[in-house]
Amino acid sequence: MSSTDIIPASSEPGSSWFGSVGTAAGWVWEGVKVTGSVVNDLQANTTRNTVCTTATVTGGLLGGWSGGAIGATIGTMILPGVGTAVGSLVGSVSAGVVAGKATIVVANRVLDDMNYDIDTRSCEKCGRGFRCNVYKDGPEKLCYRCK
Ligand SMILES: [Zn+2]
Repeated sequence: MSSTDIIPASSEPGSSWFGSVGTAAGWVWEGVKVTGSVVNDLQANTTRNTVCTTATVTGGLLGGWSGGAIGATIGTMILPGVGTAVGSLVGSVSAGVVAGKATIVVANRVLDDMNYDIDTRSCEKCGRGFRCNVYKDGPEKLCYRCK
């Protein structure tokens, strides 16, 4: 047995392709989420859900992307090839979920501060002003006291 029989892990064929499996799966899933928000917003005549989901997806993708890279590195150390794909998938999904949830909280806070798709209206019954979350409840005509 000579030293040329040993193949260094870095030259393992196909491992870079395996590493992108988790990222590709993440992209498809996030695309489905954005599409769903656009449909909901068209029905409610608002754009806030689209803005919020797009921000969340961006945050989730950034988290998932770095998580996938970390997972792929760990998976490659355990089992090059299959381990890379599994590590990439697990890493990107778990990191993407955590980063996405954190972004939802931040994005909603920022959008609330901007009064994004939150209207101040007069109640048709009592005449008092109230804040209407158009993105959540649709175009309300009555305040929360009169509903
Ligand atoms: Zn009222």
